[in-house]
Amino acid sequence: MTRENLLIDGKRTPALSGQTAKVFNPATGDILADVADAGAEDIDSAVQRAHRAFTAGPWRNLNSRERTRLLLNLAQLIRENVEELANLETRNVGKPIREARDEVNLAADCFEYYAGAINKVGGQTIPVAAPGVSMTFREPIGVCGLILPWNFPIVIASWKIAPALAMANTVVVKPAEQTPLTVLRLGELALAAGIPAGVLNVVPGRGEVAGEALVKHPVVRKISFTGSTEVGRKVMKLAADDIKRVTLELGGKSANIIFADADFDKALPAAVSSVLGNAGQDCCARSRLLLEKPIYDEFVSRLAELFKQVRLGDPQNEDTEMGSLISQKQHERVLNYVESGKNEGASLVCGGEPPAGEEFKKGFFLKPTLFTDVHGEMCIAREEIFGPVLCAIPFETEDDAIAIANKSTYGLSGAIWTKDIERALRVARAIETGVISINSGHSVHLEAPFGGVKQSGVGRELGLAALDHYSELKSVFIAGC
Ligand code: NAD
Repeated sequence: MTRENLLIDGKRTPALSGQTAKVFNPATGDILADVADAGAEDIDSAVQRAHRAFTAGPWRNLNSRERTRLLLNLAQLIRENVEELANLETRNVGKPIREARDEVNLAADCFEYYAGAINKVGGQTIPVAAPGVSMTFREPIGVCGLILPWNFPIVIASWKIAPALAMANTVVVKPAEQTPLTVLRLGELALAAGIPAGVLNVVPGRGEVAGEALVKHPVVRKISFTGSTEVGRKVMKLAADDIKRVTLELGGKSANIIFADADFDKALPAAVSSVLGNAGQDCCARSRLLLEKPIYDEFVSRLAELFKQVRLGDPQNEDTEMGSLISQKQHERVLNYVESGKNEGASLVCGGEPPAGEEFKKGFFLKPTLFTDVHGEMCIAREEIFGPVLCAIPFETEDDAIAIANKSTYGLSGAIWTKDIERALRVARAIETGVISINSGHSVHLEAPFGGVKQSGVGRELGLAALDHYSELKSVFIAGC
């Protein structure tokens, strides 16, 4: 067990209250670290240091090439430490080491992408009616508060930190209480990369204490939050008091729509990975499987076979395909949904229980779970389960598929499988969602905007679109030219 302190102004410091919280390996129950538990006073200290770094430090005045070089240095250091970071992520989140390694590399990709964007995005000159010229500048916003979930800690940290720093802001990052370890390490690597002290501060703590203090802090100008819709709603209300800029990436209940002419060899494995990746604890999980009636029985029976073959096990083992859920609380929550599905009349085709075996006893494992006979009113069809549970729902026509897919308060992700490209595009346009893929299980790409509609969120991360959310446009008019 290690002792981990906060990272404020380049120094690792205990919480002012002296409080700590234990962080666990969910696959084994082992205690990994005793982590300083930030209170409102620590948040204030971090915000004040971030503000000083913004207003008085060298950061904002670095030229574009210097800032690019520092972000590239950080990307390089992440790559040099992939194994250490991936191991830490695997032990802290319970996810398979192969997934963790990919995610750490994605974090490095993200810093490289935004490092490259710094000297390529600028303002405009605008031919206004008055005698003179108007031009726009992208100005940094100031101190940004970044609040993270536990499912993809280092990836989502990089999605927020990289564009925020690219636009010359300074940041205070609050990781989820369960998973602060890789984010703290990322903060240390940023210092080693030459990013000045105070620019990137990391303050683990509880949501209702440290998270709320960050959202309410008057010096913080922007909040970027990823987490549940319930907490996102609260964050939006709190941020309204002083009109903070807010971006929210929230929950999802995405549809995977398979038409009868789909290529089964591609659609089947994608239907597995897009709901079982990260043990289903993925906001983009395609947890509603919409199947055209003629293929319903065959698809379900082939899918059930694939679900049964998924290798559960020690997340540190290279062969493991699915690890543990994050916590006992999450395990219970998912099992409650399984019970609710059964009680509401859905048919449990496979899974729905923890795997047998000594190696699974101390962790929070759950077999891949498939329900059929699901209809739209059931809880399991409406609510985000955030676990390895898939609900198969039949549909008759294209319009029927669109109506079922849109009958959700969420709108984050989704997929469409068909060889008819006109239909694919028609359906993609009609689905109320932020991102969607055609004949692919992947719709999140570093270079393209990502985010939700309806109650899945506000604003976009990734791509150049994210930079709009970490900068203010200023118009300057010069008369007489
Ligand atoms: P959560 O909402 O419980 O917590 C998210 C973060 O908010 C944590 O850091 C937590 O400490 C903090 N928090 C909690 N209460 C707070 C408060 N009152 N004020 C400020 N901060 C507070 O979510 P979670 O359980 O960590 O993550 C699971 C949820 O996140 C799922 O609903 C999932 O869909 C969503 N998620 C969305 C995306 C996306 O990009 N759309 C990505 C990952 C996860």
